[in-house]
Amino acid sequence: MFGRVPKKSDNTKYYGILGLQKNASQDDLKKAYRKAAIKNHPDKGGDPEKFKEIAQAYEVLSDPKKREIYDQYGEDALKEGMGGGEDMHDPFDIFKTLFGERDTFGGRGRRQRRGEDVVHPLKASLEDLYSGTAKKLSLSRKIICSKCSGKGSKSGASMKCSGCQGTGVRVSIRQIGPMIQQMQHPCNDCKGTGERINDRDRCPQCKGEKVVPDKKVLEVVVEKGMQNGQKITFPGEADQAPDTVTGDIVFVVQQKEHPKFKRKHDDLFVEHTLSLTEALCGFQFILTHLDGRQLLIKSKPGEVIKPDQFKAIDDEGMPMYQKSFMRGKLYIHFTVEFPSSLSPEQVKALEGVLPPRSQSQLTDMELDECEETTLHDVNIEEEMRRQEAYNDDDDDDDDMHGGAQRVQCAQQ
Ligand SMILES: [Zn+2]
Ligand SMILES: [Zn+2]
Repeated sequence: MFGRVPKKSDNTKYYGILGLQKNASQDDLKKAYRKAAIKNHPDKGGDPEKFKEIAQAYEVLSDPKKREIYDQYGEDALKEGMGGGEDMHDPFDIFKTLFGERDTFGGRGRRQRRGEDVVHPLKASLEDLYSGTAKKLSLSRKIICSKCSGKGSKSGASMKCSGCQGTGVRVSIRQIGPMIQQMQHPCNDCKGTGERINDRDRCPQCKGEKVVPDKKVLEVVVEKGMQNGQKITFPGEADQAPDTVTGDIVFVVQQKEHPKFKRKHDDLFVEHTLSLTEALCGFQFILTHLDGRQLLIKSKPGEVIKPDQFKAIDDEGMPMYQKSFMRGKLYIHFTVEFPSSLSPEQVKALEGVLPPRSQSQLTDMELDECEETTLHDVNIEEEMRRQEAYNDDDDDDDDMHGGAQRVQCAQQ
């Protein structure tokens, strides 16, 4: 039946691990396993190796066929594949089979890996965020191979990786001078899974990878009023992997710059430039809103708009997220363009209608006591930048103090 008669090897260890006699019943076995597994569970601080041994012992002894081989020929016979010994299960799976999925220790329960979330940026125009939209997006991801149900092999069997003894990690030791550095890295042979699949047994569909590439089209609904940075989550749609809770696909809204409107929370801001005549004598203009509506914006009769003044229109800002019947404000920031010069006739005409000059004419005597000055054009922003750069340089060697001194000097 077995081709060759194997040598007899140790056939008492498994009983010893579980503290059982050779004639123990299946019931005794279950009880002994439960007791030992709970006591040594890594979630309770138990030694993972010991936990694994207990599971291994239980797995063999609870299977009548394997138990018979073990009793007759010992551990080595099983390892040589007579009882399908290479097909060792995850000790946590064995534990789960007996105890169920529930949280055994009222805490974290079984340690199941969680797959990573996949985060994608989702560009949205301000128009999209104003009116809401839906975008169809095609995504590549990995899904569990349907042919082998994620086992990677035709038979469902896998072997412990010899390169890492099934741990999935390898330790390399480097010596740098007197220091010895120990580094852990995922095992190359098994890509960190701790197991390998026999070449002949490989699943033809996934080539033993357990997962296959897949394309999925997701319809992402951008709701009215969503903010920049807001997340739209598709739970459990990320890459699948065996024994892993699939992560989420997360889209992060990235609001595109708008040439006309600026957004601040639920409010909108637009810039508008008026001529001096419009600022003084009245104006009207059409503003096309984000949904294409045409708003007529005009001043009240006799109203004067000052440079840098803001005006607001209620309920013409952004719709509020999930209560889109409410809207923020639309602010208009006015810039007034002044003429660069006036002719003497224009000055005269203006003096005739504008309020009188604030200061009365200076007397000759007053003028005699003054020094003449000349006003130059300046680019004040540039001047300020230059001054800031100078201050920053100064900060390096002598911070606050130096600055204060300089102000004092300037005042003298
Ligand atoms: Zn390995
Ligand atoms: Zn497969």
